Amino acid sequence: MALPTDHNGMFIQGMTDSEELQKFLTLKFPQGEVQETYDRRLDEVKTVSKQDSKTPLRAFWKMVDRSFDQKSEPLQCQEGCGHCCYTAVAATQLEWDGILNNARENDIDLNQVIERSTRTISKVRKVLDQGKDLEQVDWHRLVINQPCPFLNDDQSCMVYEDRPLDCRMVVAYRDACTSKNLEHAQRAVVVDEAVGPTVIARLQHEQTPKIKRRKFTGSQKVRLLHHWLILWQEKNKKKKRR
Ligand code: SF4
Repeated sequence: MALPTDHNGMFIQGMTDSEELQKFLTLKFPQGEVQETYDRRLDEVKTVSKQDSKTPLRAFWKMVDRSFDQKSEPLQCQEGCGHCCYTAVAATQLEWDGILNNARENDIDLNQVIERSTRTISKVRKVLDQGKDLEQVDWHRLVINQPCPFLNDDQSCMVYEDRPLDCRMVVAYRDACTSKNLEHAQRAVVVDEAVGPTVIARLQHEQTPKIKRRKFTGSQKVRLLHHWLILWQEKNKKKKRR
């Protein structure tokens, strides 16, 4: 089934269904191009990371930014537009570690970040009080239409340099966004969207100590940012109790 695109073959409208997105990516980018880009990105990550003394993930973000910059259509996204930031944002462990690193570098108090999300967090606590664990929480339902915990009052992102792939791939070319329905946001615009999750999974795999590594399957577990924050809080509480 053909998916709705504009005259440039770009997918228009916010894409939130990952299966639908994968189908679209398969149609849009030939397998050979995806494979070749994946291999090239992994090599480039190593070189740039060494050259610029950056983490491999930051080196990859640099490449993703460059891919968007090379698009002919000017990006309409600007600082202070947080329309994409009222939805569920997922991140792998590696991306979350990047956010933690950013918070450390910029003195961001994560306890205050959690405080900003009390509405969501208190709903999570209620679910936990019913005897469920964090993995059983229906996270997407709880965070829908809620601001991301890292969204500043001026609608800018606190951890912009290290925001996850999920945030980087919803962009507006056609027009400035005017509602939270992301109707101007476009996905599957650059080939990095097709290879990004696998590159990140590979980097995470390579950074995991050999003794703890499982067979590489091409993907890594993702959790919503609220979920990572609560896990961080729980871990800290345990450390303090020791
Ligand atoms: S991490 Fe930043 S860019 Fe992503 S949703 Fe949150 S505030 Fe927006």
